[in-house]
Formats: sequence, C-alpha cells, structure tokens
Amino acid sequence: MPPRYIAPEFEAPVFTCPFCHAYSTVRWVALMERTGEWGNSAQFGQFGTADPDAPEGEGWSPWSASVCPACQGVTFWWEGVMQHPQKVTYPLDAPLMPEDMPDVAKPLYEEAAAVLPHSRRAAAALCRATLDVMTKELLPTGAPKQLDQRLAILADRVTTPTYQLLHVIRHVGNKSLHDGVASDDAVVRFLEGVDPAATATYFRAIVDLVDELVTKPRLAEEAFAELPVTVRERIPTARPAADTD
Ligand SMILES: [Zn+2]
Repeated sequence: MPPRYIAPEFEAPVFTCPFCHAYSTVRWVALMERTGEWGNSAQFGQFGTADPDAPEGEGWSPWSASVCPACQGVTFWWEGVMQHPQKVTYPLDAPLMPEDMPDVAKPLYEEAAAVLPHSRRAAAALCRATLDVMTKELLPTGAPKQLDQRLAILADRVTTPTYQLLHVIRHVGNKSLHDGVASDDAVVRFLEGVDPAATATYFRAIVDLVDELVTKPRLAEEAFAELPVTVRERIPTARPAADTD
C-alpha cells in the first residue's frame, strides 16, 4: 500500500509534509508583529498563546507557520490559507509517489501530480511519460521500443485491472496531447475531471505497477526467506496448473 496522504489543512495536528512527504504531526507557530524603534518586524511565537493585553502595535499577525519535524520544512499560512509552498505536490486525486518507483520516473510522476490542478491535459501526457520511462527501466534490455508492445509483456505479470488501466493511461496520454480535442469517452472522462475518483484510479495504476513489479515481489521474497526451511521445503515451487475438470 502506498503511504497515506493527508492534505495540509490550517491548524491540523497531522498532515503529509509538502516538502518531504512524511506523514507526521506538525508544529504550529504564529508570527508576531512588533512595532518599535526599528520599525515593524515579525517573530515566531508559540501558537495559540497570544497575549490579549499586549501593548498596541504588538500582536499576532495574520501569518502563521507549520514546521515539519522530519525535514524542518516551514509552510506559511495567511489567515488560514496556505501561501508557501504554492505547489502542493500531491493533490487529493494523485496518490503519493512510492519509494520503489525507478528514479528516472520520479520527477515525471511528481510533475504529473503537481500540474494536475492546472492542466489535466499536461497531467495525462506526463502520466504517459512516467509509464514510458518506468517500463523501459523495469523491463529487461531488448524490450520493444513501442510503449503498447512493452505493456503487452506485462499482461501476465500484473493484475488485469492494472493492465487495463495502463493501456487507458497510454491512450489518454497520446490523445490528450496530439488531437487537441477530446476525441473519445476515455479522453473526455479524464480531461473533464468530473470524477476525481476516476482520476485517482489512473494515478493509482502507476503506483500499483510499482507495487506489483517491485515492492510486493521484494517483500514477499524477504518474508518467504524467513519461513523455517522445513516449511519452505514442503511448499511446491510452482503454482499447480488450473483445474480443468
Ligand atoms: Zn517534511
């Protein structure tokens, strides 16, 4: 399963850090406004401890900040609205990038997720590009040059829903960029974005591909190796052929 994603929300005790993607408790601080001989300045204060008797010109500004304990990244908020970073790397309908994704594909997936709220057409093209470089990386050298032919190799290695969705991503990615107009139902469905769950499904298919080809085999191998030898020896090495009776 990919890590849980919780969108940053004002005063929320826990959310996914937009910088390092850690899902952890955040520390909130308020910015205090001061007027003095040096003019106006601001400083951090303990959140929620404003002093109502503070002298005039001194008080809590509309700015506050949340600090990630994992990376010390600071997110700034103006009257409860997040101002920095402006780019929330993962909108709700794009799952968090899995650690096991090949490094060459990571920037593309991140960009697809980042651009999704602004251009679904660009997001579709970037999803397809992610799939393209990822399959080149994960399949042995000598695999076909065409993406559809590389995907065909995966038919026996991934679940049917994942396999089907990978083809949908390839098709929508092609059409959304080349045709300029939504030419069929699959393209319309993605480009209009009326169903956030459907969008999430396309992104999820990329995450699932990583899970099925990389993460799950690795974890299974590690777990299997921990079984007592006597137990492992009694397990057939190949799955029995399907019963045809
Ligand atoms: Zn962080």
